[in-house]
Formats: sequence, structure tokens, C-alpha cells
Amino acid sequence: MAKKNIDWSSIGFGYIPTEARYVSNYKDGKWDEGSITDDANIVLNECAGVLQYAQTVFEGLKAYTTQDGKIVVFRPDLNAARLQESCKRLEIPTVSTEKFLDAIEQLVKANIDYVPPYGSGATLYIRPYVFGTNPVIGVKPADEYQFRAFVTPVGPYFKGGVKPITIRVCDYDRAAPHGTGHIKAGLNYAMSLYPIMEAHREGFAENMYLDAATRTKVEETGGANFIFITKDGKLVTPKSNSILPSITRRSLCYVAKEILGMEVEEREVFFSEVPEFAECGLCGTAAVISPVGKINDHGKEICFPSGMEDMGPVTKKLYDTLTGIQMGRIPAPEGWIKVIAE
Ligand SMILES: *Cc1c(COP(=O)(O)O)cnc(C)c1O
Repeated sequence: MAKKNIDWSSIGFGYIPTEARYVSNYKDGKWDEGSITDDANIVLNECAGVLQYAQTVFEGLKAYTTQDGKIVVFRPDLNAARLQESCKRLEIPTVSTEKFLDAIEQLVKANIDYVPPYGSGATLYIRPYVFGTNPVIGVKPADEYQFRAFVTPVGPYFKGGVKPITIRVCDYDRAAPHGTGHIKAGLNYAMSLYPIMEAHREGFAENMYLDAATRTKVEETGGANFIFITKDGKLVTPKSNSILPSITRRSLCYVAKEILGMEVEEREVFFSEVPEFAECGLCGTAAVISPVGKINDHGKEICFPSGMEDMGPVTKKLYDTLTGIQMGRIPAPEGWIKVIAE
């Protein structure tokens, strides 16, 4: 085995194809065995369900090299469970947890030379997804599906140190009250592209979406959940049926409560109380936590006391603890780390 000759610190978050990906097909009511292939391309019928009616769901997780040289993935059982929820909502046959974990293990093993070394700041991003493959023209679920997973090495999220971002309150909605906001589906991203490009054109890094029904409560951004820290050191995170249940956010809440001894509240968060918070962060697999320094509400600025230079102190402690667990520097709670190779 030889690590690929990649300058790990200079790669960004882009698609770098590797030699191996996992594929399994669903036909006649069942999934086949599944295997590793070198073919990065998919040939689909022009009328495939995924192309006509966006019948596709995905996941995102990472493999890391720990301090003691193991290759591990973080809580993949939760990705398996979430993918099952996403599949059900879009009438896609589910992938069992056992099959999902087997796919991830085969995939990471086949790409072991692409797992960035410990300390590089880079990680191996894993993208599993399921989509309808057979022709569908009348609106109905497809009969045949493909479950695929590929990897791509991704660079350190914060090059040259973490910088807090400025986000804006968005006038578009991300998810309807009883819609699909809680599942990880491409369709939730398609409709976020216009708002995010508009935000970028106006100089903002992200959109803060409010609840669609009343526009008074904080939901999430296009691809990350919010955490807030109160002035007395409590962690507060929005609760809503239309938020995607982030595994990073759930892990941070556990870390806050069980390891750092903080109080944690998962509850409705009114936008009107946001100026009261001391710190704000966005959490997801990609960055773990991106600190938010400022929120622009139609020209009115909410500036968090943590400022625009550094992550707030409590956010930093949460970040260091969770990344410490992922990288094997801090003992992990039972079942959080799946070892792929020693
Ligand atoms: C994937 C995703 C997140 C983050 O979830 P993680 O499991 O922490 O990566 C948050 N919001 C949305 C809309 C997402 O799609």
C-alpha cells in the first residue's frame, strides 16, 4: 500500500475521482449483492425516474486516519438509519443498515490509499446515494434503483485558520412544514441553489432559513444545522420537523451534555431571541462547526460578542472535543467509531 501522492493541504472540497466505487442494483423487488467497480460513469435511460422526478436521496460521511494510524469512519450507523428515513419518504426501497455498513467498509478499504494522513487536516469524504433508474413517465416511483457510493479526498475546511462567517436571513423558504426538509434529498438542494447564489452575490456566506409557516423561528441553512451558546454557557439548538437531523449536531449535543457538562436545550428558537446569544455556529460533516460572527437581517446586523476573528470559546471547546474524538485523541463514546483498518 502506498498513499497517493497528493498535496493534502492544498486540495479543496471538489470531486477527485478515485479508482474504486461501490454499486448495487435493485431489481425484481430485491437488492443484489453489490460490488466494487472502477467505472465512474452511469449509463441511464433518458426516462429514468431520477432524471424525470428527482427520485434520489443521499448521505455524507467521512473516513479519517486517527492519531494511532487506524482508518475509521464516524457513526456510519446513523447515516444508514437516516438514509432509510430518506428512502421511505421518496418511495425508494431502503438499504439495510448491514448492507450500508458493508458498502462503506468495502469502499473505504478499496480506497485506503486515498485516506489522508493524520494531521494533514484533510479527510476522505464518502457520498452514498440511491436513485431510480428505470423509465418512469407517468408520475410513480421507479421499479429499479441503484445504490452507489464513491469517495473523494477533501482538504482542510478552514485553510489558514477558522474565520467566522457572515450570513443573511433568507426571504426564500427551504422546507414546508410537512414537506421533505427532514430528509437528505437532492430536491432540497436544487431549490436552495438560487437563494445561495443570490446570498453570495450580496456578499454573504450562507442563508439562515426561517420556518415557512410563521417566519419567526430559526430552522437551518441550506446544508447545516444551527447551534447557539447562551451568555451563561448553555447550548441551544432549534427543534423542528423540517430540519435535517444533522449527525454532527446530535453528536455535539451529546458531547456538550455528557462530556463537557453543559446544559443543552433542543427547542423552538425564535429569531427574536437570536441577538441574546453569545455564540453561533453551523454544524455539518464538512466543517464540523463553522462559526457565525454576524447575521444580516435585511440590513440590520446582529453581531455576536465572539466577533469576526475567532471561534467563540465555547464553540471552540465543542469543536476541539468532537474533532478530538474523531481523530482518536479523546476516547469516543461507545459505538461512535467504526474501525475499517488497523
Ligand atoms: C447533511 C445536512 C446537514 C448536516 O448533517 P450532518 O449529518 O451533520 O453532516 C444539515 N442540513 C442539511 C440540510 C443537510 O443536508
